[in-house]
Amino acid sequence: MTSPPGPPSGPAPNTRVVVAIDGPAGAGKSSAARELARRLGYTLLDTGALYRTVALFARRRGVDWDDATGCAKLASDLQVEFRLEDGENRVFAFGEDVSAAIRSADVSEGSSRVSSHPEVRRALLDLQRRLAREGGVVAEGRDVGTVVFPDAAAKFFLTADPGVRARRRYEELAAAGEDADYHATFADIERRDARDTGRAEAPLTQAADARRIDSTELGPDEVVETMLREVRDREARAGGTGPQGSEDASE
Ligand code: C5P
Repeated sequence: MTSPPGPPSGPAPNTRVVVAIDGPAGAGKSSAARELARRLGYTLLDTGALYRTVALFARRRGVDWDDATGCAKLASDLQVEFRLEDGENRVFAFGEDVSAAIRSADVSEGSSRVSSHPEVRRALLDLQRRLAREGGVVAEGRDVGTVVFPDAAAKFFLTADPGVRARRRYEELAAAGEDADYHATFADIERRDARDTGRAEAPLTQAADARRIDSTELGPDEVVETMLREVRDREARAGGTGPQGSEDASE
């Protein structure tokens, strides 16, 4: 008779945690989150894209951005999927690739308006949690560390001076071929900041246990390296050895 197999040897199983990155528009969250997810082999959850998609469909279907009930209905019916294609995190709504359409200045304004309705935020809460159910997710937004994933293993609050943020957003719009104006972009950033920090439900604020990173004078690589070190530490503390199969798992 052979003896039963003993406990598995070798490294403990991966502990793929949830990483939450919050901060104001233009702080560099999207690119940091994308690169961090790539390095960790995690999925990227761009929560702003969900609010943007609601704003886009409200516009198309004639629902006013200030109509809380109408926008919440759209949000709860939303069928959205993120797909990584050629290193790009693409957003599909009802099967249509809306990645470019949701980045216009008009939809940016709309996303900020629709996101101020508590009904819309509630409708998107379950969706966000479902998308992160398995762990191994980098979530970025305004309230992911405070409200959506209060138990996230690693939390960051990424910020920068408003002038620098406006410059980055302006360059992004110009690169995408939009008719951008720096002063208008600056005003737009200030208006969105005020709305995000001033709203009653889930305002933009730093979670008590989030690490603050100011990217005003930091390059994108430094931001990602800082985050990566902390996430690895949290993965180890959560009992694993860090993700295997990701690019720098052997570093
Ligand atoms: O991050 P991004 O600029 O794509 O977000 C679009 C808008 O969605 C923001 O201006 C903000 O008002 C809203 N938002 C939010 N909560 C999140 C993510 C985005 O209110 N978690």
